[in-house]
Amino acid sequence: MSTLTFLGAVKEVTGSRYLLEVDGSHKLLLECGLHQGGNDVDEANAHSFGELPRVLEAVVLSHGHLDHAGLLPKLVREGYSGPIHCTRGTRDLLFIMLRDAAFVMAKDIEWENKWRHKAGKPAIEPLYGLDDVEQTLALCRPHPYGQTIDLPGGGTLVFHDAGHILGSAIIELTVPSGGQTKRLVFSGDLGNPSSVLMKLGFIE
Ligand SMILES: [Zn+2]
Repeated sequence: MSTLTFLGAVKEVTGSRYLLEVDGSHKLLLECGLHQGGNDVDEANAHSFGELPRVLEAVVLSHGHLDHAGLLPKLVREGYSGPIHCTRGTRDLLFIMLRDAAFVMAKDIEWENKWRHKAGKPAIEPLYGLDDVEQTLALCRPHPYGQTIDLPGGGTLVFHDAGHILGSAIIELTVPSGGQTKRLVFSGDLGNPSSVLMKLGFIE
């Protein structure tokens, strides 16, 4: 039997992360988002992925906002080296978003460590650096909307336009489960009434 486990975005709306285990043997991750905007976010973001990065076979991403994709470089830093399936628009956006996230994080940590040094406290490390971001970007597998992509374990994936930001997608999966085939649809974030840039994403 296949199972879906909620690893993030539980009792909050950020840190989107879901583990799909296909017939108990193939592990796929939907989203890998940064926790944002609460008291416990630093601890939640710094928490180790454990063995997950080394047993995962694929990552599927709905769109490039950091609360859905912002921890991908940390997943790679901790050992993930498989494909990251996303749309072409999302891949293009990740080039900007993740590099920017690493840059901002480095600046924040630099400032924090100056204060910590004066207070006699040990320095802290960023969640990831630009090297991790570049490795992450190299793992991205961009796909057009509407194309069927094979997944480990015999399932399939199709991206449908979600109209949220450039490249955003609703994820449609077929998942083998105990001799049957289940359909799983993950909406991601939907809609955005005024985005001129998004329209460019329709040109494939
Ligand atoms: Zn979003």
